[in-house]
Amino acid sequence: MRNIVVAGAGGFIAGHLVKELIKKGNRVRAVDIKPLNEWYQVSELAENLVLDLRLRENCVQAVNGYNEVFNLAADMGGMGFIENNKAACMISVLINTHLLIASKECGIDRFFYASSACVYNGEKQTDPNNPGLKESDAYPALAEDGYGWEKLFSERMCRHFMEDFGLTTRVARFHNVYGPFGTYDGGREKAPAAICRKVIEASLTGIKDITIWGDGHQTRSFMYIDDCIKGIQDIMYSNIEVPINLGSSEMVSINQLVDIVEEIAGIKLNRKYDLDAPKGVRGRNSENTLIKQLLNWEPSIPLKTGMKKTYDWIKEQMTSTGNKKHHERFNK
Ligand code: NAD
Repeated sequence: MRNIVVAGAGGFIAGHLVKELIKKGNRVRAVDIKPLNEWYQVSELAENLVLDLRLRENCVQAVNGYNEVFNLAADMGGMGFIENNKAACMISVLINTHLLIASKECGIDRFFYASSACVYNGEKQTDPNNPGLKESDAYPALAEDGYGWEKLFSERMCRHFMEDFGLTTRVARFHNVYGPFGTYDGGREKAPAAICRKVIEASLTGIKDITIWGDGHQTRSFMYIDDCIKGIQDIMYSNIEVPINLGSSEMVSINQLVDIVEEIAGIKLNRKYDLDAPKGVRGRNSENTLIKQLLNWEPSIPLKTGMKKTYDWIKEQMTSTGNKKHHERFNK
């Protein structure tokens, strides 16, 4: 049994992580800034704390008495959010910095930081046929403005806390993660959830139109949440001291992603392209040589399978009356 702090536990990925860590019999302290009734998943077996982790004293309260920290707390969202909230994204630097300082002060043994594919140099992502971004492609640095620069800076802060203070830090660069209990409306949602929502809206209203951001030819890869949760733990307990990709290498265009969701829904929609909407880089994919070689980790859930589970969950949220399951409590 380990004593583990999970920061950002009211959110999508960390909510699943808490559930898994509890299932394995660990003692977990779950922390988030959101009021508890807004957490996507709440484990009644965890110690749940509502704290603003931008503040140093709150970080000390969050980690004190525990041994390990997973930091997945950040003010973030899909392209629609990060392109329009660069300062807010960069302020997340306070969360990781103060968590690292508190971890050093409180004698934490191991620290995980959730970085992102947004650290990669934009000039290496101009072709939709992206061959896959290798870990070394983050430098020379030309990260996604705002959000990506914060991630790159925080990665380096983890590295220097390890080099200078002996704090064991591990960093994963997540490529798009999707699945149930993620954001699907409100402006912070990412492409897979947003497309599911739009297709469900079309099937519920009978208005068979869908608006796609950009021309639909931009490419990405998407990792199902269960693969991500396994990868996070594999990386945390490995001896890998450099930031490493954690993502799928099954690259698709946004148009192909829409095809998949239409097939799941059994519907065909008229596509309208909003060329002025935020669309991010032209082509992005994960290059997984290093993680396969070092951890024998590969995503196990094909995109179609994961999207079906995600679609079904979002549909349930959108059609259940009064009793949205979006915020679920569990006790085992
Ligand atoms: P999320 O928004 O669902 O979860 C983040 C959580 O952090 C939220 O619940 C939020 O309330 C919390 N938070 C924000 N500010 C806080 C503060 N000051 N103090 C305490 N908690 C705070 O996002 P997610 O998709 O679960 O992402 C988790 C991590 O993974 C983030 O660091 C994100 O940047 C990174 N990441 C995610 C993806 C993805 O595809 N979801 C891709 C790359 C990187």
